[in-house]
Amino acid sequence: MAAALLSWNRYDKMPLMDTLKSKRKISLAAQIFIALVLAIIAGLLMQSIPDVASSYIKPFGTIFLNLIKFIVAPIVLFSIMTGIISMKDLKRLGKIGGVTLVYYFCTTVIAVTIGLLVANLFKGVFPALPTGSLTYTAPKSASAIDTLVNIFPSNFFVPISSANMLQIIVMSILIGFAIILIGEKAEPTIAGVNRWNDIFMKCMEMILKLSPIGVFCLLTPVVAANGAAIIGSLAKVLIVAYLCYILHALLIYPAFISMLGGMSPIRFYKEMAPAIAFAFSSASSVGTLPLNMECTNRLGVSKEISSFVLPLGATINMDGTAIYQGVCAVFIAACYGIDLTFGQMVSIVITATLASIGTAGVPGAGMVMLAMILASVGLPIDGIALVAGVDRIFDMGRTALNITGDASCSVIVSNIMNKHDADKEFKNQR
Ligand code: ASP
Repeated sequence: MAAALLSWNRYDKMPLMDTLKSKRKISLAAQIFIALVLAIIAGLLMQSIPDVASSYIKPFGTIFLNLIKFIVAPIVLFSIMTGIISMKDLKRLGKIGGVTLVYYFCTTVIAVTIGLLVANLFKGVFPALPTGSLTYTAPKSASAIDTLVNIFPSNFFVPISSANMLQIIVMSILIGFAIILIGEKAEPTIAGVNRWNDIFMKCMEMILKLSPIGVFCLLTPVVAANGAAIIGSLAKVLIVAYLCYILHALLIYPAFISMLGGMSPIRFYKEMAPAIAFAFSSASSVGTLPLNMECTNRLGVSKEISSFVLPLGATINMDGTAIYQGVCAVFIAACYGIDLTFGQMVSIVITATLASIGTAGVPGAGMVMLAMILASVGLPIDGIALVAGVDRIFDMGRTALNITGDASCSVIVSNIMNKHDADKEFKNQR
């Protein structure tokens, strides 16, 4: 009995993927990939009966997503607080925050520029679609100033109950700062925050064990419903968007990861594969956050850094979404026979970069923000109807890229901070 308890305890302290491996089961990463492939096969087989897939398979995917949504608000709240508290030093936090924001900003500007350039290159192949009968009622999207105002919570509970990530981030940064400033008197609170963080992390581990089932149940109905549309006329714009996602993933991140992160991009992608597959299937950056944290920790990023950089990135850094918006703006303009001017393109770069801050890391959010981008350059918002039918397919790729960008940032910040700490120690020793 004692031996059994001891061995259970040993597994209990290991990260989820190690636990699965050491029990000689297929690793979680492999399970997610198998689920992905099975979902594509099942979806293709069910193309003639998409209703069956959406009525009987999708609900289990929804249950899984609900569990993820349940865990995300407390994870963000406590992980950012623990990250801040563990730094104990506001100057250090300022440095980490500064590097993170500059990186997020630069990669998003590069992403939307790639989207615009490549889409312009392929403009000639976009089909001339009839636009006369299009209607799309855009949900009210907030202006830049409203977005800024909405970042700041006016109530303690509402951000948590409505899972408003930006407001939760502001709350946790504020409380984390206060705890550091109170100093010794806050010791019991620090212990409490750390324990609650452990508890929610454990819940998250349990939920993540279900991810292969979640992936299968989320993806099968999408393939069943969209299989025909992908083969149809929208294939070209989808291919252009995916080409840009791939270019960004294979050129921009590897360059930054090897130059600033001091890591081999191959190792990076190898460890990141489960999170990327999960993001692709769930189309939610926020939902992928727990798995992303685990993958980056396996890449050697400390919890102190990942628990600050990743929740922030899942909320404000959307390189895939920025690419999608650039490509779709050019596509919609082409369908209406409009040529975008250089000024309009610059304005798309600026709006898409700002929009990425206001885009929630949930399925479909990027399409809502596309309305804001089209409106900013005077393109007809009704054009969104052209791409809305296959938005989920765009969304899967853009989310996979979004979370890869967040993870690459955590690797870079980690390397910069390690060097900074080593320099400091060297100076102290002299
Ligand atoms: N689904 C994306 C994400 O979660 C957001 C978007 O719709 O572009 O990152």
